[in-house]
Amino acid sequence: MSERPLLPADALLPDPYGAHEMPIYQTSTFVFEQVADAAARFAGRSPGFVYSRIGNPTVARWEARVAALESPHVPAGALAFGSGMGAVSAAVLACVSHGDHVVAVRPVYGGTSELFLEVLPRFGVAVTQVRAGESGEALEQAAERPRTRVVYVETPANPTLDIVDLAHAAAVARAARARLLVDNTFATPILQRPLELGADLVIHSSTKYLGGHGTVVGGVVVGRDRELLSGPVAAMRKVLGAVQGPFDAFLLAQGVKTLRLRVEQASQTARRLAAELAQHREVAWVRYPGLADDPGHEVAQRQMSGFGAMIALELRGGAAAGGRFLDALRVCKRAVSLGCTDTLIEHPASMTHAHLSAEERAAAGIRDGLIRISVGLESVEELERDVLGALERASPPRRGAAAPSPSPRGGRPRAASPRTSRS
Ligand code: PLP
Repeated sequence: MSERPLLPADALLPDPYGAHEMPIYQTSTFVFEQVADAAARFAGRSPGFVYSRIGNPTVARWEARVAALESPHVPAGALAFGSGMGAVSAAVLACVSHGDHVVAVRPVYGGTSELFLEVLPRFGVAVTQVRAGESGEALEQAAERPRTRVVYVETPANPTLDIVDLAHAAAVARAARARLLVDNTFATPILQRPLELGADLVIHSSTKYLGGHGTVVGGVVVGRDRELLSGPVAAMRKVLGAVQGPFDAFLLAQGVKTLRLRVEQASQTARRLAAELAQHREVAWVRYPGLADDPGHEVAQRQMSGFGAMIALELRGGAAAGGRFLDALRVCKRAVSLGCTDTLIEHPASMTHAHLSAEERAAAGIRDGLIRISVGLESVEELERDVLGALERASPPRRGAAAPSPSPRGGRPRAASPRTSRS
């Protein structure tokens, strides 16, 4: 952990020249006046930095900003990583040893699935995955297994937008004496603060909303338990070496200043777009927690202060129609990643979750036709024109209304509309 992570952001290292912004300390190492100074700094008895894999002033400023966002009322610390996966891996590995058991929801981000399905088992850590949004009982049962050390949750989940009840997950983790780890990338601390609901560690891919401009890859782990964060999590970062560089930390610290504005604006646009898509004759179903009949709506309303800017949907023509739709877009970008100023659209089965087997995708509720939209900051009119126009261009001339696609568990099935179907 940076040397003084529990201080509020603005108390951290005032710049000797009074710089308004934390300068970029582009240095790998720090000079000691005397050998005794080095010993004191290494032992943590005196403030200051020793080496940028362990801590750096620009990175520390970024960490303090994120900690203050996730935990505005209670002191917390944060550790920045070179990527979201660096943060996920270090947080999980910090909490488990050979012979332990992890309970995780599914779906989760594809890289996190890889950690659970392929990496942890090789080191003797068993993982049980439970379908996100399913009855809480499945989570409770899975956590009864001896040596359960971690309950891992992503909500809203990537890419299905399933919602997990965080207060319930915290109770399950407490009963099992396990840690609750929550990936809060989709919601951001503007809309959801898992530490306040009982999470031990909150994880972000700061590549996404926190940075917000699609210029940096980064990750962060936030927690209030100083021993956990500055002990095993910091040790894991040190040995994995998955650190954030000072220049990237500087860019992230700039980007996060507009986090609230960006998230609020994009969420408003997403809500309107999701409602329109849910009514569109070419759309089989939409998942967006802000829709009143979304299966996650009630829980989302309880634990989030807004519903975010991510939408999942499937077209009535399935994967083939989805491909045509993506190719017909002119403003939205066909790209993975999310939480950027630009609207990004992707096809999880062939992109972010392509390395999962068809069975694993099916078990996680990731259908072949699922399309994920990360709504950006374009005007709502421009996005509507692009998305509705692409749907029009991508739909084949129809002789009769197609049979509705079966909805995923809890999705919104769309019957063919006699009003709009062409014969
Ligand atoms: N967590 C979530 C929810 C993600 O969507 C991603 C990436 O898309 C990650 C973690 C991994 O982040 P990164 O790509 O920064 O390693």
